[in-house]
Amino acid sequence: MKVIHLSAECYPVAKVGGLGDVAGALPKYLNQLGVEAIVVMPFYERKFVQENEFDTVFQATTTMGDRPFFFEILKERTKKLGFDLYILKIPGLLDRTEVYGYADDDERFVAFQLAFLDWLLWSGERADVIHCHDHQTGLVPFLLYFSSRYTALSNIRTVFTIHNGQYHGTFDWQKFNYLPDVDSWKTGLLDWDGGINPLSAAVRCADVFTTVSPSYLNELSVNSNGLEHLFEMEKGRGIGIINGIDTDVWNPETDPMLAVNYTAETVSTEKIKNKKLLCEQFGFSPDKPLFTFIGRLVGEKGADLLPEIFKLMLQDQENPVSILVLGSGEKGTEHELSVLKEAFPGQYNAYIGYNEELAHRIYAGADFILMPSRVEPCGLNQLYALRYGTIPVVNSTGGLKDTVIDISENGGYGIRCHVATVHEIFNGARRAVQLFKNTDALQLLYPKAMALDFSWDRSAKEYIHLYHNLKPIS
Ligand code: ADP
Repeated sequence: MKVIHLSAECYPVAKVGGLGDVAGALPKYLNQLGVEAIVVMPFYERKFVQENEFDTVFQATTTMGDRPFFFEILKERTKKLGFDLYILKIPGLLDRTEVYGYADDDERFVAFQLAFLDWLLWSGERADVIHCHDHQTGLVPFLLYFSSRYTALSNIRTVFTIHNGQYHGTFDWQKFNYLPDVDSWKTGLLDWDGGINPLSAAVRCADVFTTVSPSYLNELSVNSNGLEHLFEMEKGRGIGIINGIDTDVWNPETDPMLAVNYTAETVSTEKIKNKKLLCEQFGFSPDKPLFTFIGRLVGEKGADLLPEIFKLMLQDQENPVSILVLGSGEKGTEHELSVLKEAFPGQYNAYIGYNEELAHRIYAGADFILMPSRVEPCGLNQLYALRYGTIPVVNSTGGLKDTVIDISENGGYGIRCHVATVHEIFNGARRAVQLFKNTDALQLLYPKAMALDFSWDRSAKEYIHLYHNLKPIS
């Protein structure tokens, strides 16, 4: 069986969030389990592409509406990532540094999908399943089954995975002419609320859709930025499969980004060394519990709550803490989190920006990671944190609900809050401080957290089961 993963991101080539991590890991584990899995992604002008060797395997010119464009497919030469990586280059559209955020993102990703399908059509490249990820690839199932241009490919089965249901990639019907000839009886499948909505089209047209945690599948019916009704109707066709983590990349024993490596056996003496280095760099005392937040500074992640939560934590004289933020996103939140530095020097610091290496060092050096998310499709941060012996303090939603068990319960290893409000999360942080004061309990918790199995093996097997049971929808 051959599966093509189609994704806008793939770590380490280009990553903005969890989608990149998944596309960079799941195919590797599928290959290890005997399923041929490759990745096709857009070309970005980034380090990985500049530093590795690629062969041009295909070139052609096609059209998007009345706009002709040239594209080429480049294949990474050495299978360095554990799978065949193909990047699709379109001069003028897919040859920039950033993944998202351009005024012509609609055109960039529609062209990506058309060129991908044309490559399959014209090159004879074989596939049993196309596994599409998020809205940037959401038109593929519709085009495959309802465009006469791709009839020759319509026996290929499709899976669509939702990593984030808040973003739909909606564009105006005026751009309908970008698409090739499609069955006019089926165009309604593209529509949601008067726009072309690639996410909803994929949910309706793919053979099966999945979410990256079981709880998130249910939550989409109550919170999906306008698609609640769709998910209420389609829920029965969905499957929730929790993400794994790439334990080759995220391994405190071998992680080259850490100053001091450690295992579950050595965590009690070695993790503190990472903490000390981090505290030195950011001006903290290593004796206090170190809390962190890593991630996109957006409402979904509850980032707007952080300044108030932090003020309460930092003013709590009985429970002194240090706090380190790593993130970027909404400008207002970035600003609020930056100015806090002046109010609480030596207790609080923030790195506004993206820094992969620092993220690894923080997972290793922090005691607790705060995740006050309002929406969390799966959440990888809590899984990385646990693997590095860092205890998550989370709002119990989506994947956080599925992966974090509260310490008050049997077998628990984290702290769960029941709603994303300033006071509830502050109370969660206070519980964490009490835990920190109980050195014996904490020492027992470190190895327990590190031994939890969130590897891809289990989840990859669930995807394989899914691929084998795909049947065309009637
Ligand atoms: P999402 O995909 O919604 O942003 P996830 O928890 O699924 O959230 O994945 C986030 C990933 O991005 C994690 O690997 C996290 O470490 C990483 N990340 C987020 N923000 C930053 C940042 N500013 N610097 C480094 N890594 C980051």
